[in-house]
Amino acid sequence: MSQGTIVKVSGPLVVAQGMRDANVFDVVRVSEHRLIGEIIEMHGDRASIQVYEETAGLGPGEPVVSTGHPLSVELGPGLIGAIFDGIQRPLEVMRERIGSNITRGIEVDALDREKKWKFEPVMNKGDRVVPGDIIGKVQETVVVEHRIMVPYGVEGTIEDISAGEYTVEDTVAVIKKDNGQRVNIQMMQKWPVRKGRPYKKKLPPETLLVTGQRVIDTLFPLAKGGVAAVPGPFGSGKTVVQHQLAKWADADIVVYIGCGERGNEMTDVLLEFPQLKDPRTGESLMKRTVLIANTSDMPVAAREASIYTGITIAEYFRDMGYNVALMADSTSRWAEALREMSGRLEEMPGEEGYPAYLSSRLAQFYERAGRVITLGSQDREGSITAIGAVSPPGGDISEPVSQATLRIVKVFWGLDASLAYRRHFPAINWLQSYSLYVDRLSEWIGQNVARDWSSLRTDAMRLLHEESELEEIVRLVGVDALSAGDRLILEAAKSIREDYLHQNAFHDVDTFTSLYKQYRLLKLVLGFYYLGKKALEQGAGIKEMFDLPVRERIGRAKYVPEEQVDYVFDSIEKELEEQMNALVSKEDEGYVERI
Ligand code: ADP
Ligand code: MG
Repeated sequence: MSQGTIVKVSGPLVVAQGMRDANVFDVVRVSEHRLIGEIIEMHGDRASIQVYEETAGLGPGEPVVSTGHPLSVELGPGLIGAIFDGIQRPLEVMRERIGSNITRGIEVDALDREKKWKFEPVMNKGDRVVPGDIIGKVQETVVVEHRIMVPYGVEGTIEDISAGEYTVEDTVAVIKKDNGQRVNIQMMQKWPVRKGRPYKKKLPPETLLVTGQRVIDTLFPLAKGGVAAVPGPFGSGKTVVQHQLAKWADADIVVYIGCGERGNEMTDVLLEFPQLKDPRTGESLMKRTVLIANTSDMPVAAREASIYTGITIAEYFRDMGYNVALMADSTSRWAEALREMSGRLEEMPGEEGYPAYLSSRLAQFYERAGRVITLGSQDREGSITAIGAVSPPGGDISEPVSQATLRIVKVFWGLDASLAYRRHFPAINWLQSYSLYVDRLSEWIGQNVARDWSSLRTDAMRLLHEESELEEIVRLVGVDALSAGDRLILEAAKSIREDYLHQNAFHDVDTFTSLYKQYRLLKLVLGFYYLGKKALEQGAGIKEMFDLPVRERIGRAKYVPEEQVDYVFDSIEKELEEQMNALVSKEDEGYVERI
């Protein structure tokens, strides 16, 4: 423990002297208010402290005490369904205790100390265990089985373990190390947030994270354990994309970090998620969700902590063998907090005033995602998929945060202001976006959904690219100069955009599309093009083709509920075929008459 005094206060930065025994990243309590802060730099006995609470009114001479511990989170039953601030204080509990104004320096346990959980051992007395082994479980919510793991650094033989109702601090098992030392095991572990939790081995991502968002799953898919960024200007739909993924992605656990964005967006989540049902479990979405809120009205310095708190909680559930999806909205607000702190520390500024370590910080965060073999003798597999929103000022992604992020992530969903303006949502630009997982995942989708998925996807992308080239020509010489074949391409691309890619997040049915329905819908939309092309060759008229009555049914097909897909889509396909055939036979008749 080291005690010093404040010499300088500059916004969230406090400098204290007399801190010789303290270390970088120690948590400190600042002033009589005992504000929570973290040492980010040491020079001799001077500590630069980033304070996670409002520093107004603080002045030189006030005490600073180091706790000697790094910033850590509490991991154990009680995480799911909770909403924490950036340093893992449960907002709900704080509100009950002190009202809606967060008083400074308040100490609240992240996990409830009174609540009892039903612990069921899955190992026995006498079993040998290593770190990461699951020794018991707690049914935390209807859908999440919380697996109690042997903490890092503990190895030996179980000397005692028994079922029962326990608090997170009660001893549920005793492990005798080989040196004879006994370790009491509680359900709660602590972990320093800046340190990635260890695992055995990283594996390349191989399976699709099904999001139910057609433009994402079909064109720019994300793998379980993958990393994605969604940059876009204000109002282009970043938050809606993040919310859609939090709602519908087929992850076991969702960690949602609201970082520096508006508080009402978190309120939306809080109001909406309990009402919404997870399509896989039929249970409320909150039963698999952890929320972290460091909204724009909360201290700027805690933005970084919110990111680390979130990823550490995600790692903990990954270690249990779960597929975790983590969203951070927005990583730009975190970067801005870094910039502010760096400026106050008078560090040498890099590009646009961001610190030189911006890209390494971002990389360290995204590196904690991935698919792994966890610690423990049980060789579980778990994953963290990380999706970061990026908010470039004015939407110009040549700025440092976007550029640094794009160098790291494997999936880029570029949101486009002009698409949003035309109300084409999700406004993901299909010409600029990409996913480096496409090849690897098409194998998986081919096996799990349909063999011809990949060729349908390729055709859809080709048509969209051809459309953009043809549009250039149309702009120069008008649509009449195009051949019938080219006009069909334009029409098919339009249908891909409007009848397939456009997806209304706020429509009961349209908000989520299963992979099977995506396949059927894409096949239907492209069916018009394939059959149309053949019909053109056989002399069908382009105008009649574009006016076919079945096209209206194709346009509404995305609103067909999942359970009716087979029946309704079969019938639309049949109608499409009949009407196309009729076009051709009409031409045939005309031909005969003319002879
Ligand atoms: P950002 O976070 O990029 O500032 P938002 O996610 O808040 O933007 O989106 C702005 C608005 O765009 C939303 O309030 C909504 O009206 C509309 N929007 C975005 N995505 C969709 C979507 N998939 N379906 C329908 N509307 C959408
Ligand atoms: Mg937003």
